[in-house]
Amino acid sequence: MLEISKLHVSVDDKPILRGIDLAIGAGEVHAIMGPNGSGKSTLAHVLAGHDHYTVTSGEVRYRGRDLLALSPEERAREGIFLAFQYPVEIPGVANIYLLKAAVNAQRKHRGEPELDAVDFLALVKDKLQLMGMSQDLLYRSVNEGFSGGEKKRNEILQMVVLEPKLAILDETDSGLDIDALKVVAGGINAMRSPERAILLVTHYQRLLDYVVPDRVHVLAQGRIALSGGRELAQELEMRGYGWVEAEAANRR
Ligand code: ADP
Ligand code: MG
Ligand code: MG
Repeated sequence: MLEISKLHVSVDDKPILRGIDLAIGAGEVHAIMGPNGSGKSTLAHVLAGHDHYTVTSGEVRYRGRDLLALSPEERAREGIFLAFQYPVEIPGVANIYLLKAAVNAQRKHRGEPELDAVDFLALVKDKLQLMGMSQDLLYRSVNEGFSGGEKKRNEILQMVVLEPKLAILDETDSGLDIDALKVVAGGINAMRSPERAILLVTHYQRLLDYVVPDRVHVLAQGRIALSGGRELAQELEMRGYGWVEAEAANRR
């Protein structure tokens, strides 16, 4: 599904990622963990095609294609979805309007008929329920005045409506209380399928109690310093990130 080789990325001429190698197969859930500032969001944004980040070298292949050659819009159409760490507010644009436009753009691309408002509402209702969201959130401006938890749920709602092939979730768990965390985890788990890959970026292992990853990777010094199974997340929770960073620094 995704194969990242020797990826180097800079922001404003400052090297942030310094040689990332990562392969994620269809059906897998991988977690990227790491201390603040280690480059987790940079990796997530670069995969989605955010233009603030410059790939200085390396390669990313997505379903056999050169991902870096695709525009952000093409990436989205080809099934890549990014849930933001800091979801953007879009005043004046109703949440339902944005969701419907995104779904219809996808359908058009696949040569399927567009959904009208009635059909779309029918489709979205179940997913709202899955996310424990009230219907009035659909008619409010995107994320405007949403609580932190509502914003994160709304990101996951977008994901379950769009059914991406590769979902990248950037700290969707941060700032959630335990009930909201379980709802968000339920949404993510509902998306697990043999045809889909999920990359969970998280600072804490808490989410991984509910969404059990196949692999866990630790970013430090702009590289994947350590990879392991789900038990690695538990070890990090107990020991912190300092030892991984020290080991990564030693190896350089
Ligand atoms: P993480 O998500 O792991 O906390 P980030 O990817 O957000 O880390 O940041 C990694 C480093 O890149 C930090 O030092 C951060 O200051 C820098 N950085 C990220 N985005 C930008 C940006 N848009 N402009 C300048 N520096 C940035
Ligand atoms: Mg951070
Ligand atoms: Mg981040």
